[in-house]
Order: sequence, then C-alpha cells, then structure tokens
Amino acid sequence: MSASLILNHGNTELSRLRRKLDRERNARLEAEQIAEHGMRELYLKQRQLQLLEAIAVKANQSSNLTEVLQFAIQQVCQFTDWALGHAYVADSGQREHLQSTLIWFKNTAANPAIDSFIQSTEARSFDCGVGLPGRVMETAEAAWVFDIIKDQNFPRTDLAQDAGLKAAFAFPVLAGNKVAAVLEFFSTQEQEPDEVLLHIMMQLGVQLGRVVERNAAEKRLVHDSMHDRLTGLPNRVLFLDRLQNAIAHQKRNAKHHVAVLFIDLDRFKLVNDSLGHLAGDNLLTLVALRIQSIVRTEDTVARFTDLRDKDTLARLGSDEFVVLLDDIRSPDDALRVAERIQRTLMTIPFNLNGQDVHVTASIGLATTADEQTSAEDLLRNSSLAMYRAKTLGGSCSESFDQSMQIRAMNRLVIESDMRRSLQENNFVLHYQPIVSFKTGVITGFEALVRWQRTADNLVYPNDFIYIAEETGFILLLDMWVLKEACRTMLQWQRDFPREHPLTISVNLSARLFAQADLAAQIRTIIHASGISPSSIRLEITESMIMGDAERSVKILAELKELGVHLSIDDFGTGYSSLSYLHRFPADTLKIDRSFVSRMDESPECFQIINSIMSLARNLKMNVIAEGPETEAHVQHLQGLDCDYGQGYFFSRPIDAAKVEQLLDANFVYGV
Ligand code: C2E
Ligand code: MG
Ligand code: MG
Repeated sequence: MSASLILNHGNTELSRLRRKLDRERNARLEAEQIAEHGMRELYLKQRQLQLLEAIAVKANQSSNLTEVLQFAIQQVCQFTDWALGHAYVADSGQREHLQSTLIWFKNTAANPAIDSFIQSTEARSFDCGVGLPGRVMETAEAAWVFDIIKDQNFPRTDLAQDAGLKAAFAFPVLAGNKVAAVLEFFSTQEQEPDEVLLHIMMQLGVQLGRVVERNAAEKRLVHDSMHDRLTGLPNRVLFLDRLQNAIAHQKRNAKHHVAVLFIDLDRFKLVNDSLGHLAGDNLLTLVALRIQSIVRTEDTVARFTDLRDKDTLARLGSDEFVVLLDDIRSPDDALRVAERIQRTLMTIPFNLNGQDVHVTASIGLATTADEQTSAEDLLRNSSLAMYRAKTLGGSCSESFDQSMQIRAMNRLVIESDMRRSLQENNFVLHYQPIVSFKTGVITGFEALVRWQRTADNLVYPNDFIYIAEETGFILLLDMWVLKEACRTMLQWQRDFPREHPLTISVNLSARLFAQADLAAQIRTIIHASGISPSSIRLEITESMIMGDAERSVKILAELKELGVHLSIDDFGTGYSSLSYLHRFPADTLKIDRSFVSRMDESPECFQIINSIMSLARNLKMNVIAEGPETEAHVQHLQGLDCDYGQGYFFSRPIDAAKVEQLLDANFVYGV
C-alpha cells in the first residue's frame, strides 16, 4: 500500500469518526433539549395546577363573589404576567348585558393612561355580542385578541392604544350554562393566541361559577322556605314577618290600621273529591290569581323587611288564604276589600277541565283597631272570625269580636275535658226504643251518647258533638260508642232471646264518613264484639251523604258489604237528590222530627211525610218516624202506614238498667 493511499485512508477514517462524533453530539443536544423542554412543560403544568387549585379553594371558602373574582383576577395576572385584569357581571334585567364592576388588578407601574382606560371601562356596559366581553357572553367561550388595534369589534380601541395595551383575552364565569360574569385581561405585548391558556381559563370559569350557583341555590332555599310551592305566594312565615313589620309601623302611626282577611273556600273538599286533586290544585292557583287582582300585592324577597305600601296575599295551606291590608284608614275599608274578594270569586265560575265550578268563600276579618295585638293574635282572631262566617253557612264575611275568643277558649277546655272523660269512662249510652206501629213491639234501640261531665252534670250531644266534630275527637268517640253498643246489645240478645233479634242503631258523624278506612275500622269493632252484623244499624244523616253523593254511594256500598243495615237519619232536611237516593243501598229512612212534630198543624208537613212514605215504598225501604210525642202523632203515622216510631210517646232515651227492665217484662206498647 502506498503512503498516499494510507494517508487517504486515514482521512476517510477521520471524517467518519468526525461525522460519528457530530451525530452523537447532535443526539445529545437533542436529548438535552427534549429533557429541558420536558422540565419546562412539567413546571408549567405545575403552575397551572397551582392556579386552578388556589382558585378552587377560594371559591369553596367564600360566598362573596366580588372577593372571589378579585382574587382570581390577581392570580391570573400573576400567572400570565399580563398587565391588567377586570371583571364584568351579567345583568339579566330588561335585556341581557354585562355590567362593568370596580374589580380590577393592575400588574404594571402607575400609568395615567391606563387609569383613564379603567375609568371609561367602568362607566360602560356591554350588550351581548358587543366588544370582547360581549362576544364571550354570546358564545360562552373564551376569546383572544392578538392586537386590539387590528380588532374590528373593540369599542375601546383608542383608549387602549393610549394605555399601551395590545393583546387581550377574556373568559366566561359559567353558572350551569349561563354566563354569570366575564373576566378580561390585557397585555402590553402582541401575543399569539394560546389555546392551552384559554383551556385553563375555561376551567377557572367553571370553578368561579360554583360560587354563583351556590349563592343562587341559597337564595332559592330562602325563597322556598318563605313561599308556597303551588301558588308561589308567600307562606305563613313570610306573612307573619310582614304582619309584624306592619304592626310595628302602625304603633308609630296612630292613623294607620292593619287588617288581616282570612279567606277559606267553601266546600273546597268537594272539588278535590269529585274532580281530583289536580283540579283542586288548579282551582287554588286560579283563586290566588283572582284575589291577587283585587289587592295591591308585591312580592319579592328583596322587599322582605321593607313592605310599607303594599298588601300581601299569602297561602297558609290547603284552601286557606290570608291578606294583609297595610295602611287602611278604618275597619270598613277592610270589609269593602272582603266584599270585593267575595264578588270576584262568585260572579264568574272557574272553569276546570271544561267544568264550571262556582266558588264562594268564608272570610274572617281582624284589624289592629280592635286592640293592641301581636301578629299571631291578629292572624288567630281573623281565623276565628272566618270560623264564625263558616258556621253562618259560608259565603259571607265576619269581623272579629271578643266573644269569639271566649268561645274558642271554651272549646279548648271542653275538648281536653272530653279526651280525659273518654279515658276515665265518663261517657254513657242511653237507648231509645224503636217501636213497631203495627204491634207495639220493641224491635231495637238507638244508642245515644251522653257525657257525664261531673257527678251532677249530664251533658247532651247537641252541646258537645259539634265541638267533638270540629276537633276530630268524634273519631274516637263514635268508635267507642259503636264498641259499647255492640257489647251491650250482644248481652241483651243473650239475656232476652227472641225470634227476631233486637237491633241497635248507632250514629256516625260526618267527620267519620270522610275517613278512607271507615269500613275496615267498623268491621274490626263488630267482629271483635262477636255480634251479628245484621243486628247493627248505622245511621248516617242525609246531608252527610248528599255532600258528596258519588263518594257516598261507594262508601255506603262498602259498609253494606259488612252485612250491617243502613239508615238515613234526619231525612227530609237535606235536599236529597232523588236521582241519587235510589243508588244508596240504605234500608231505612228516618223521617226528621221537625215534620212529625208539626204534622198536626201543618198540612204541608203531613204531605211531606206522605210523599216520603211513597218514596220509601218505591225504593223498598222501611220508615221510622222520629219524635212522635202524642197519641195524635201515632194515629196519623199509622194512618200513613209508617212502619216504626221512635219518640217520647213511647219512651225517652233511657239507661241500660231501664232497658233491661223493659226487656225482662217483655214490654209491649199499646198502639
Ligand atoms: P238523632 O240521631 O236524630 O237522635 C234522635 C234525637 O232526637 C235524640 O236526641 C233523641 O233524644 C231525640 N228525640 C227522640 N224522640 C224525641 C221526641 O219525641 N221529642 C223530642 N223533643 N226529641 C226526641 P239526643 O240524644 O239529644 O241526640 C241528638 C243528636 O245527637 C242525635 O240526633 C245525633 O245526631 C247526635 N248523636 C247522639 N249520639 C251520637 C253519637 O254517639 N255519635 C254521633 N256522631 N252523634 C250522636
Ligand atoms: Mg240518629
Ligand atoms: Mg235523627
């Protein structure tokens, strides 16, 4: 090999080695670059996370939106090292727009041009779509401006330019999918859009939105706790609060009166029962609207503590509404409003699913003119007055007076006495014979309850049954009566056996009739006593079943299925609809005493009894005449072919011992 060749060979080897070295260095540089880039990326990621976390923590801790936005703007400015940050909040008033706030962060040295940019921004608002904030509001997306001067939709260009502001971005604070606020940021450099940054800002916006959502939920909670869900009207809590305010104001101003109207719809239950609860709810909503049109109402929670010049309509529950009349001159003013409410309800029927429903109301009225009253007192007084209107037959207005309260107190005492008496066994049954007009034989007895209130005070049902009905105590009492009557009659049937076993009649209150499980309750008692159901006659008054005839047909059928007999009590007073009468599975009509007692002197009464007789015959029912007192009564009734009589002519209601004497003697009345 020649020397030159060797040299040549050496050259190639050298350059190969050099190339290899180059490659290795390049690879190392590249690797270093990659590592450095990775580190930077990692570092950036870490800072992004820190930012997100700091803002999430702040958003969790504070419910003060201003404070949280202020914090966020500062954090973002420091993170991006941009010069200026600012917040707008959405205002969903007449038109959706963004309102500028005083929330700023300046990340630059003092600069009068920036200050005048800030001032002019604070003085304005942005409609949806207008300017950078408006665009963000419209799209609910973050937006970037590379250079403000080149942007077509940037109304503040001149001032921004004076202040040396170049790039900008903004992002929405989202509560659900609604833009609640917009944050915008400015840089003094032109900046290429940074998609990663915008993505993080969107995440920030969601975190910040949680403060808005939480505040809204709290506000809703406060609102819900003070409003009726069905009608949206204030509820008892809010009503009492406003009433308290009104009364406090009234105490400072003698010429000023406060009145409460307590409105209860008449026979609302009938609508619910016959047309269904949905129709009932609809009716309540419509009624609320009509009453609202009469009174000057205004209802926003913001006015919670300052409600001088407006009236409040509230719903207390079911069909009870109350109106607070603030600032009236005299109680007469309140009465006039009550009359207007009556008229607006009455004149035009409510249409529910194509059905016209006529509504009347019982209205009770109480004013601060009565005496120094608290809000609770005034509300209670108005309810007592409403109650009086109810007992007068409804569809009228009554003003509170002191006697109502005394009566209410009495009722309370009586009711608690009654409950104790039932426990101490101080109710007794008396029994009135039911006698065949044909044979004078006693066929059964009606059990009539008495209250041995003290040793020498025996109270009759007319003096306490209505209170027992109002308070609901009747449910217990009637079941006790049934139990006691079954027990006693079974004993008599055993002691005095007959071909046709004696029957026992028991009264059922209207209140009981509204119980869904009435038949089941009665069945349990009858079964437990061991008496044959066919010996039991349940007495139900005519007005009771006519109240809701369709439902009555169903309940009577259920009772009938137990094997008991059914009697319609006080017949002739309840305006029976003949179309229903034949559908009631009743066995007996009891002609009301008022017809019998007047049949001598009143030909009409005589005629009415005559008609009831033929009606009963057609419907294949028995007839018992209530209250024959004289020989003449008995003769007339016999002449009309009436089956049985139950009256003083034969016997007053008597205690069990006297009944046993009669039965023991196998007593038969002379007829
Ligand atoms: P009612 O069911 O119509 O009972 C008949 C009432 O008329 C009884 O009054 C009875 O004493 C009275 N009476 C019967 N014959 C004559 C008469 O010839 N002349 C006069 N002046 N009165 C006569 P009482 O016992 O005072 O009961 C009144 C009402 O109280 C009953 O009318 C009934 O509606 C209700 N009642 C009685 N006991 C109960 C009960 O245990 N539960 C329920 N829910 N109501 C009862
Ligand atoms: Mg009766
Ligand atoms: Mg009766």
